[in-house]
Parts: sequence; structure tokens; C-alpha cells
Amino acid sequence: MENIEICRNLLLKICECGQKNPNPPHIQDLFPFKHYFNSEGNLIQEKLSEIDGLWTRREILTRFLFLQAVLDQGPDIVGIRHLLKDVTNGLYLKEIRFLHKPLDFFRELGISVDEILQKHENIKLTRAEIWATENKSTAGRYNLFMDNSTQVLGYAIYRWGVPLSVPYLLEKDFSKINKISTEPLVDYLENYDSAEIMSQEVKDNQRYGLGKAIGDKAAHLFAKWYVHTFSLCRKKAISWNKISYELPFDSNAGRVLFRTGFLTNIASLKNYENWEVIQKNAGKGGEHYIRVTNIRGKKVQTISIESDLGSQYKEISTQYLKTRKRFPSSMEIQQLPNAFLKETKYGIGDLDDGLIYIGTNFCFNHNEPKCVKCPINEICIGFQEKQEFISNFRT
Ligand code: SF4
Repeated sequence: MENIEICRNLLLKICECGQKNPNPPHIQDLFPFKHYFNSEGNLIQEKLSEIDGLWTRREILTRFLFLQAVLDQGPDIVGIRHLLKDVTNGLYLKEIRFLHKPLDFFRELGISVDEILQKHENIKLTRAEIWATENKSTAGRYNLFMDNSTQVLGYAIYRWGVPLSVPYLLEKDFSKINKISTEPLVDYLENYDSAEIMSQEVKDNQRYGLGKAIGDKAAHLFAKWYVHTFSLCRKKAISWNKISYELPFDSNAGRVLFRTGFLTNIASLKNYENWEVIQKNAGKGGEHYIRVTNIRGKKVQTISIESDLGSQYKEISTQYLKTRKRFPSSMEIQQLPNAFLKETKYGIGDLDDGLIYIGTNFCFNHNEPKCVKCPINEICIGFQEKQEFISNFRT
């Protein structure tokens, strides 16, 4: 089978798993959102423009997801989501309605940090052992504060405070120009030409960008939640649809795409070594380390842009992602999945859900993943042919 067909089969199968096993953040149990969801746990779409306090439901949800995207970058996603949920519920019960009034988080900083500390301790009791077993680590190392830091203030001000300040600043700036909006964050985000450009500006914009508080992966995860998972987007243009933002590319996605053979079908092992994506013997136990973030911007080597897939890619880049004004002369690896999915029923959100499902339930980052039970084992090169893709590489 040709490279293109191998890659297409892999992506479609992963998307199929994603559609069957979606990975939405479970926010229906959050105190501020209880009335936003119906009894089946589905977001009531037709009421997204309804006013809740000063803002629409869409705005409040967007503020929350903006914060969650920043926090979701930590080491134990299950624990992080618990922490965010417990702290949000705790603060709202104390009338600190920080999504409705971001300033309240800072005004009552003592209560905010106490809440974070206390909920973090509780989560440690239930999650630390499980996390340690799954990651071949020790429970004592369990810490959700990120940057390997144990100080709550840095975590609260930097990781919580920065995303909460953006809608507050927008509110101030809008009032300076007499603009009245019940959706300042939503208006700001949808001001961009595409979901992809929005996700870049979420990080890079000089005034409103989150800067180092958010990585490329988390910015794309936010785009996925906004466009795909919760359908918050008001825009109907193709540049804001299911393939108009890049895949959130993290170590989990990279590991599955490497072991299954997707990455090695579009460039050689030597290419990845030269790009320092593969760093020889730099993994935990002396295995080769795959630094997934280094893939960004690297070019597809084995498929021509003059192919049919290349034509799809050109359209993706100029009309969907809108990152190029003219047709590009080469294809960037991290944007290739968009071209593969263009004429299918699947979107980047399905692909990401599939990668999360496979990566967190079967394709563990050690040499004994649950391949026998993995739903894509029949087409996985690591399982079928190249055992060394599993035993010799770590992400
Ligand atoms: S078959 Fe094994 S190596 Fe391949 S994706 Fe599944 S768990 Fe990972």
C-alpha cells in the first residue's frame, strides 16, 4: 500500500475511535453551568445567547474553557480536571463568581489560594497512587501546580490569573471605545479570519495573548473545544469549521502517530533525527526520546504537493486555516491531517479524541502498552511489524 493510503487508513480509523469515544471536559457538573445542560448532559445550544448576569452563557463557557486550556497542560489530566471543577464549585459556593466577575478571584485572593491548596491535597489522596502506577513514578512526586513548582501563589496568579484577566481587560478596552458587548471574549476571538489564526493569537497577541502561560498544543485544544466539542462558534465560514485549526500536537498524539507508522510514512527516521524530533538515547531509561514539539513547521518528505492530497492541502492552507495567502510549495507535517480529513465526515476534533482515547487507554508510554486490546492494532506498524517502535522510543 502507498504511503498516502496507509496514512489515510490510520487517520480514519483513529477518527472512528474518537467519534465513538469522545473526550469532552465534563463541565455539566460545575455549579455555574448546571442549568446550561439538559438532563442527558448535553449543552442546550439554543440558549447559548441567553444572558446570565451581565454576559451570555456562550461567553461564560468560553471564559471557563480558556482557563481550562491553560490548566490542562499539567501532568495528570484527570487530577487537573478534578481540581478545576472542585475549586470552581468551591469558589462559586462562596459567592466568588470569578467567571462572571474575574476581579473577584483577585479581590478574595486569600480564599482563592486556600481553595486551591485544600482541593489539591484532597485530589492527591485519591490520584497520586494511580498516577504513579500508570507513569512508573512515585506518589510523592504528584503535583498539579505545573513547572515542577509547589508554590501556590505562582500557580494561582500566573496560570489562573492570566486567562481570567483577558476578558476583564477586553471589558475595560471595549468600554473605552463605548462598545457594548455581552460577549467580549467571544467577539474578540471571532474577530480573527480563522479558528487557526485565533488559536495562534490566543498565545501571541501582544495585548491579549496568554504568552508562555499556554503552549501551541493547549491553544489548539481550546480551538477544538470551542469549534468542535461545545459548538460555541457563531461563525459559519469554512475557516471556522471542523478542519480549520491544527491538531493539538502533544506527546500522547505524537507517540500514537509514531508507533502506528503515520509519522514514518511521511518522513524517514533519519529526517526526524536531523530535526531533533528523535533524540538518540535521551529518553528516561536510555531509549530514544521523541520530542513531539519539534515536529512543528517540518516538511512532509515522501508525498508531493503535486499529488491529489497536495491539492487538498493547498486549499486547507489558504481557505480553511488561512495561514497562507498563496499556495504553498511544500506541506507542513502538523497540517497534513487537515488535508487527509478534508473530504471526510471527520474533523480534527474526532482525530484528537481518537488519539487521546488510544494514547491514554492502550498506547502507554512504556514498553508494555495494551496492544492486544487496542482497536487499531490490525493496522499499527509498531504492533504488526516493528516492535522496536514500541520498545526503543519514548515521548
Ligand atoms: S497497537 Fe500498540 S503500539 Fe499500536 S497504537 Fe495500539 S497500543 Fe499503540
